[in-house]
Amino acid sequence: MSRRSLFWEIYSPLLAILLPALALLLFFSAGAPRTIITSGLLLLAASGLAAWYAARRLRTSLGRVHSLVQTLVAGEDTPRPWIDGPPEVGRLALSLQQTANAWSAEIRELRRRHQEQKAVFSSMWGGVLAIDHRQRILNLNTAAAELFGLDPAAARGRHLQEVIRHLELQEFLARLLASDVPLEGEITFRPTGTEERFLQLHGTFLREEGGAVLGALVVLNDVTALRRLEKIRRDFVANVSHELRTPITSIRGFVETLLEGALDDPEQARRFLAIVARQSERLNAIIEDLLALSRIEREAERREIAFECHRLGAVIRAAVQTCTHQAGDKSVALEVSCPEELAAWINAPLLEQAVVNLITNAIKYSGEGSAVEIAAAREEPYAVIRVRDQGKGIGRQHLDRLFERFYRVDKGRSRTEGGTGLGLAIVKHIMLAHHGRVTVESQPGKGSTFTLQLPLQQQGQH
Ligand code: ADP
Repeated sequence: MSRRSLFWEIYSPLLAILLPALALLLFFSAGAPRTIITSGLLLLAASGLAAWYAARRLRTSLGRVHSLVQTLVAGEDTPRPWIDGPPEVGRLALSLQQTANAWSAEIRELRRRHQEQKAVFSSMWGGVLAIDHRQRILNLNTAAAELFGLDPAAARGRHLQEVIRHLELQEFLARLLASDVPLEGEITFRPTGTEERFLQLHGTFLREEGGAVLGALVVLNDVTALRRLEKIRRDFVANVSHELRTPITSIRGFVETLLEGALDDPEQARRFLAIVARQSERLNAIIEDLLALSRIEREAERREIAFECHRLGAVIRAAVQTCTHQAGDKSVALEVSCPEELAAWINAPLLEQAVVNLITNAIKYSGEGSAVEIAAAREEPYAVIRVRDQGKGIGRQHLDRLFERFYRVDKGRSRTEGGTGLGLAIVKHIMLAHHGRVTVESQPGKGSTFTLQLPLQQQGQH
């Protein structure tokens, strides 16, 4: 509004009254026109001044309202406005300010909630994928983008088929969009250059506040580790059953033969009973090893294994003592070397069991009259114990799987030697409990060396 127009807005109604009134006065009082004209002009001048003053005041207060609005539009909070001017303008400014402050508080709250949701969405462990009716990506979080190797910003708004070429996922989404109940499913997925992964899908609907369906929302959980564990468990149960079945079948066969008449022949009966006894021992050995393995795993997990700083020489000597008889039967020489002061944080009975298992194997898989060397040394940051034999050795292709439960290189030989297939798995778990490890080097025909590495320093479990 220009300066003149506001002034004329106020002054023109005054003129509209004053000018006709003056004209009437002049007409009816012809005797004293000069006085009337003078006082009329004075009245016009006074009212013009008053109109100018009123226009100026109004302009100032409206100017203040204008700058108040500018401040509010910029989203800044203002204190209670003080408007010098007509009370109506003051009230207008006040209600404008109150409205704007209420809005900006609401906007701030909405922004905060949006940020919060964004943070939750992007830091969710599982992948989240939102699509519309036409399978166009509305949104996806970081986990989902990483899973499918996508850039979240680039993927938004694009058709699912364009960015994720996975038939099973597309079919799942099509079924979900066509259904009126949430869906669950599982797909396998192989990201380029990596291993196959198992994804569990939970599909539900995206709804507006009014309840209308906007599209679908899928939560993707990577359950690969779980599926692998399940497979290990299944394989393990199958292996155990298989291992137990062999001696049980043999025992049953010989008992039946005995019952069917072999008992009457004392010579044959003794032979058969000796086999039954051997097979029962085998059963017992498998069960003992299985129990030992699960006890070590359980106690290690619960941190129930007690460790103390112990000299390794004593442990090695005790283990060698246990194997003397077996070595003697095969004329295998056991050669020990260990610095007397060498000590590490160990659980002595468990470590002794690990060393016994290695020496037993070394004797089992060596020829008559050979030697087995058991040597300990300090090799910072470990104390190491090496069991070296001159036996048949192990092919390179077996080395990676050697410490798996029931893995055997030569099944027949292991069985005739009374092996359970669990000895090395037990060694591995004992070493894991010690925060150490077991490794193997071997050359077929030349022999094998198993090395136990034990941390010299106390580890976190104590
Ligand atoms: P087992 O009771 O059959 O000996 P282990 O777990 O102790 O089971 O060993 C697994 C397999 O590793 C054995 O069946 C054997 O084939 C091989 N093995 C272990 N130690 C030796 C060794 N010192 N020399 C050659 N082969 C070995």
